Amino acid sequence: MFDKPHRISTDEIAEQATLYCLGDFSPEERKRYEEHLSSCAVCRAAVEDSSAVIAEIALADPREPSKEARTAFLNRVHNEKIKGRLWAKLIGVLITPQLSARPSRRKNRVQLGKAVKMLESKLSGSEQELLDALVQAALKLCNAGTAGFSVLYEDEQVFRWDALAGALMAARGGTTPRTWSPCGTTLDLGRPQLFSHPSRCFEYFKDAPQPISEGLVVPVYIGAKPLGTLWVASHDDRKFDKEDLQVLQSFADFCGTAVGIIRERQVKLASKARD
Ligand SMILES: [Zn+2]
Repeated sequence: MFDKPHRISTDEIAEQATLYCLGDFSPEERKRYEEHLSSCAVCRAAVEDSSAVIAEIALADPREPSKEARTAFLNRVHNEKIKGRLWAKLIGVLITPQLSARPSRRKNRVQLGKAVKMLESKLSGSEQELLDALVQAALKLCNAGTAGFSVLYEDEQVFRWDALAGALMAARGGTTPRTWSPCGTTLDLGRPQLFSHPSRCFEYFKDAPQPISEGLVVPVYIGAKPLGTLWVASHDDRKFDKEDLQVLQSFADFCGTAVGIIRERQVKLASKARD
């Protein structure tokens, strides 16, 4: 297929570029591909995108609590060469580096401050009430199609959508696998990630009543322990930006602390009840 230059980018072109960047080509394939690159701007752009994502994944900060998860992730990529196409698909939908290049909306700290105050008032209630309020606020402030909170259930190795607001609300209680999902990838990489048309990689999203155009996913921790992820999705041409990331990150930081407090209180209440 790479005998002549092409004008439009496709999934297959992205996949080929990623396989090339991951070093999955034989020397012959490599040579042929590089010859093609010299005359095809579309593929050159795809290679640039892929290498930006791969660099982003490889840049580990040893001080981060998530370093272990990322090392495990990179080991899996390395050891499962046979699944090279799967990894290529994953890298094809990860567009996190684009976030920093996009023009950003004006900051609205007043609105964010109000939302955090509202969430603080939920601290005396249950964890579910807090998560419900959290996804409602994320939906509104990020002007998203759907907002959700995926809680990690380690024993079952799944994420469960324990709170959802917006278009996909009816999917509440649904699960995605820990090892193969945008939430899982985000926890593996230990930092926020932006996905473009994730159903190209995570095929179960093809059954969603509304296709997802973009998903911005932020990891949430209680201390160093992963609680899950907070995310927003768009179902149209809405593109998320740095301001959306800032909002979600503020909510995620607050949520980790707040759920920690609520759970601690429950433990105390339970032990009091036993006494
Ligand atoms: Zn090409």
